[in-house]
Amino acid sequence: MSRAYNFCAGPATLPETVLTQAREEMLDWRGSGMSVMEMSHRSDEFVEIAETAERDLRELAGVSDDYAVLFMQGGASSQFAAIPLNLLGEKGSADYVNTGIWSKKAIAEASRYAQVNVVASSAEQNFTTVPDPASWSINPDAAYLHYTPNETIGGVEFDFVPDSDKVPLVADLSSTILSRPLDVSRFGLIYAGAQKNIGPSGLVVVMVRKDLLGKARAETPTMMNYQVIADNGSMYNTPATYSWYLAGLVFKWLKEQGGVAAMGEINQRKASKLYDFIDGNDFYANPVVPRFRSWMNVPFTLADEALNGAFLEGAEARGLLNLKGHRSVGGMRASIYNAMPEAGVDALIDYMATFARERG
Ligand SMILES: *Cc1c(COP(=O)(O)O)cnc(C)c1O
Repeated sequence: MSRAYNFCAGPATLPETVLTQAREEMLDWRGSGMSVMEMSHRSDEFVEIAETAERDLRELAGVSDDYAVLFMQGGASSQFAAIPLNLLGEKGSADYVNTGIWSKKAIAEASRYAQVNVVASSAEQNFTTVPDPASWSINPDAAYLHYTPNETIGGVEFDFVPDSDKVPLVADLSSTILSRPLDVSRFGLIYAGAQKNIGPSGLVVVMVRKDLLGKARAETPTMMNYQVIADNGSMYNTPATYSWYLAGLVFKWLKEQGGVAAMGEINQRKASKLYDFIDGNDFYANPVVPRFRSWMNVPFTLADEALNGAFLEGAEARGLLNLKGHRSVGGMRASIYNAMPEAGVDALIDYMATFARERG
């Protein structure tokens, strides 16, 4: 068996030790005589797995009892609808910041339920930066302010938490959750699809301040109603049990690595190395304003686009997989989430240097 370095944006690489442990526990979870996949979600065993995962997540991310932590389904995209349905309350409008493709999707879906106010956009800069918060026209009466701290496709990441004053701040943390320290108390709601930094796809983690619960519109689907999900410990229906279990293994792994602060240092080092190499080599380029370059997703282009195919082929031959950029932007993208070891980044840089020397 050989494991490649998988730079896929999502579903993304998982820590090898997590997969090994899952394999060891596959047929018989700790003497239960069955796989976690086969357990009743009401069993003592699974309830322990679920509660441990939530406890570890709360500890890692520093989530206080003022917040409910929900393990929901339907990925981050289902939250694009759940958020307005749950949070609009009496108010008709919500503020959104547009920094790229995921922002735009969130805006499009919310527009079906709310009057969406785009308070700032980096469209004119081709989504290569974060609009200066001094220029945002925030509505103090908005139900919430939504933004995307890390644009997975554009490779743009906020290095600050916007000040939304009394308006609840809502963040799509799908591709950056647990990758560096974050003050959760600044937010009204955080959500993250699991398949980048947490575990298998389909699962979505929602952290919501409890005072924001109970305001869902009457027509909100029961399965999207945060109050219902919170009251039922995320088990109103059968939860994604195996994904929840795997997420729990990833949280344990993160704790063993030293937690989010330690991951932040490693991630910054990994990203800096790659950007430094790109900036120092005429053959490669990254268009993002340096301050807002993502630590998680690094898009880059080759000086000669005709060589894209050869670049990808050579990478694959070395076990460097899924470097092709998103179809909407082209070029390349290396996603270097928590589970991508530093050695994977080193191997990529080594290959890029060789390719530029031989073909550039
Ligand atoms: C991947 C991603 C999504 C979509 O997640 P799904 O689980 O596929 O719905 C949404 N937002 C961001 C920032 C993402 O990276």
